[in-house]
Amino acid sequence: MIKIKRILLILFLLSAALGCQKTINENQPESKPIKNYKWKLVTAWPKNFPGLGLAPERFANLVNEMSDGRLQIRVYSAGEIVSAMEVFDAVSGDSPAAEMGHAAAYYWKGKIPAAPLFTSVPFGMNAQEMNGWLHYGGGMELWHEVYEPFNLLPMAAGNTGIQMGGWFNKEILTINDFKGLKMRIPGLGGEVFSRAGGAAVNMPGGEIFTSLQTGVIDAAEWVSPYNDLAFGFQNIAKYYYYPGWQEPGPTIELIINKTAYNNLPKDLQAIIKVAARSINQDMLDEYTYMNQNALQQLQKQGVEIRPYPSSVIEELRKISNEVLTENSKADPIFKKVYKSYSEYQKRAEAYHKISEQAYYELRK
Ligand code: CA
Repeated sequence: MIKIKRILLILFLLSAALGCQKTINENQPESKPIKNYKWKLVTAWPKNFPGLGLAPERFANLVNEMSDGRLQIRVYSAGEIVSAMEVFDAVSGDSPAAEMGHAAAYYWKGKIPAAPLFTSVPFGMNAQEMNGWLHYGGGMELWHEVYEPFNLLPMAAGNTGIQMGGWFNKEILTINDFKGLKMRIPGLGGEVFSRAGGAAVNMPGGEIFTSLQTGVIDAAEWVSPYNDLAFGFQNIAKYYYYPGWQEPGPTIELIINKTAYNNLPKDLQAIIKVAARSINQDMLDEYTYMNQNALQQLQKQGVEIRPYPSSVIEELRKISNEVLTENSKADPIFKKVYKSYSEYQKRAEAYHKISEQAYYELRK
């Protein structure tokens, strides 16, 4: 009898609990089914390459964690789905091969004359100033406008900080030493180099070593000690010139197919923005930390670290101004973007003269 009573009591409690559950559910708004997204991210870099290749992996992991797996991004290195120089085309348009890409805007100079302004300008802004211009000085809005016809949404997603001038097997004593030299140097820096008498070529990072080794090119700039050591340029070139007048603070881009982005719920869009902003700073931190040790290793291996002679720098500065003026004349969009860029640079310089620069002087 007691047993039956107990069973009845349990049944009563169970039914009460279920009833209660039902009431709660009825009072709650109907929840939408959770939709998961699987995206592809194509890059212009070798797999897990220091800095450049690690950043998109970190981005994908961050997005995965923050979205609790609702947006899973698989990262493909250069050549896995498309080659480095095909990243833009793979992500743009109405039927993209990948939803996202990680590369550098100056690779698309042939398509969009103004694109290099969103990477780096010879004698232009450093990383800190680029970030100021892009995120607070109207640069990002211009970048959106420039990429809009390609159905692309760009975001800043890394900066290497100032680069090195490049690797040579001959001494650079005057500007005439550039004459006839074939050098891997992309973007506006390449235009300047060609006008100085050299022949600029653009090629993805993964092709530089073999090209330099086999004499397809005579010289090359890539990034800075951390990255250049990883490619082993110290084994095939003697002189490592500084500073990187051609790329004083290049921004690395994340490009997103706009249709794919617009189809995401708002919270996933916000997660992408936050993760991009995070790797944008993180890459700079990584280079800032890793470059010193790599420089020491290069020196130990007998690399001659040399400054460009000041006469060479002065010539390059003069030619850079010509190149920027001519590009502005030739393309109204370049003109519009460069106006914003150069006006901000002037203001940034005025303050940095009495802050960053004054402090560097004081510290020596
Ligand atoms: Ca470079």
